[in-house]
Amino acid sequence: MERPLLNRRLSEFGTTIFAEMSALAARTGSINLGQGFPDTDGPEEVREAAVRALRDGRGNQYPPGPGVPELRTAVAEHQQRRYGLEFDPDREVLVTAGATEAIAASLLALLEPGDEVIALEPYYDSYAACIAMAGGTRVPVTLRPAEGTYRLDLDELRAAVTDRTRLILLNTPHNPTGTVLTRAELAAVAELACERDLLVVTDEVYEYLVFDGEHVPLASFPGMRDRTVTIGSSGKTFSFTGWKVGWVTASPELVTAVRSAKQFLTYVSAGPFQYAVAEALRLPETYFHSLREDLRAKRDLLSGGLAEAGFEVFRPAGTYFVTTDIRPLGPEASKGGDGFAFCRALPELCGVVAIPNAVFYDHQDQGAPFVRFAFCKRTETLAEAVTRLKSLSLG
Ligand code: PMP
Ligand code: GLN
Repeated sequence: MERPLLNRRLSEFGTTIFAEMSALAARTGSINLGQGFPDTDGPEEVREAAVRALRDGRGNQYPPGPGVPELRTAVAEHQQRRYGLEFDPDREVLVTAGATEAIAASLLALLEPGDEVIALEPYYDSYAACIAMAGGTRVPVTLRPAEGTYRLDLDELRAAVTDRTRLILLNTPHNPTGTVLTRAELAAVAELACERDLLVVTDEVYEYLVFDGEHVPLASFPGMRDRTVTIGSSGKTFSFTGWKVGWVTASPELVTAVRSAKQFLTYVSAGPFQYAVAEALRLPETYFHSLREDLRAKRDLLSGGLAEAGFEVFRPAGTYFVTTDIRPLGPEASKGGDGFAFCRALPELCGVVAIPNAVFYDHQDQGAPFVRFAFCKRTETLAEAVTRLKSLSLG
């Protein structure tokens, strides 16, 4: 057969780096600091709530298309309580199969072929694939390393907008750099969106994982309420990444549009888990506080260890990822500063798996020497990983 099986929109996307690296970790018995998932499950009472829902027959058959009313109400109450944002649970909240489906459905719903989408590079891998599936054109705006962190250049962002720009796909706290956009940066994004009449899809799945600064939802800025699709997920906040319960909050018109795409992707998902996540969103403040403090300590442990092992560390203000520059390890240990080669060799060299940031770039050369490590793992696992990584510069 002459014609390739995979259509040309997807041909540039192979297997996701997360699948490749988790398989490598399993094959080599390495410590997996690649794919971002916790190695301990979330709260027992949330797990029990899911078991109860399964046993009581709640959600075992197709739940309603927009999500079960209990979860939609819990999401609306959460946005009100935490951010003072009012959403009508019946018209302005949509439950999705994780943030992944929310991203896909939003882009499929809101883009016409040829529309340009501005995304902050390095970007989460599904963004590029979903923009492509929707026939859009991605326009990366690169976050650049600056003084131990990564920052958005607002002039570059402004210059990237053209007459064909339909939306900005934002992510804060940002995977993989750990950058948390400041109130001033978000205000500038909001102003630009209003001035150029753009939609914004904002991926805020790490909203609770902020160690320095604060998370401010873009939807709370003047003029943004009706042009913003906000995406949340239970995976990161409650440490049940396998449940795949996410949500969208937006105006009735935007939710209707996103739901039009969503209904033909999965229609519905995760029935019993939706009830459990509704309960999780009502956990006392102490839960969210200890999640953050636990991860703050782990961030400090891994970041400190990586610095001692010879990496340059970009201190993450949020998320559970830390980006490093491997070049200070020297040309040999860093494989000539090639993050791909380094990550492929790392399991053999010292039994640790990480992710090469280059996969999150259009300008792969810009991302070449950077490597991401996840710290959502047990303290003893992180400590062992650090010991192993320190052996690199000795070898
Ligand atoms: N957005 C970002 C920035 C992520 O890091 C991830 C991965 N957890 C997702 C979306 C996907 O979230 P979910 O597992 O809820 O689909
Ligand atoms: N979001 C997770 C990460 O960045 C991975 C999720 C996935 O495997 N698709 O590591």
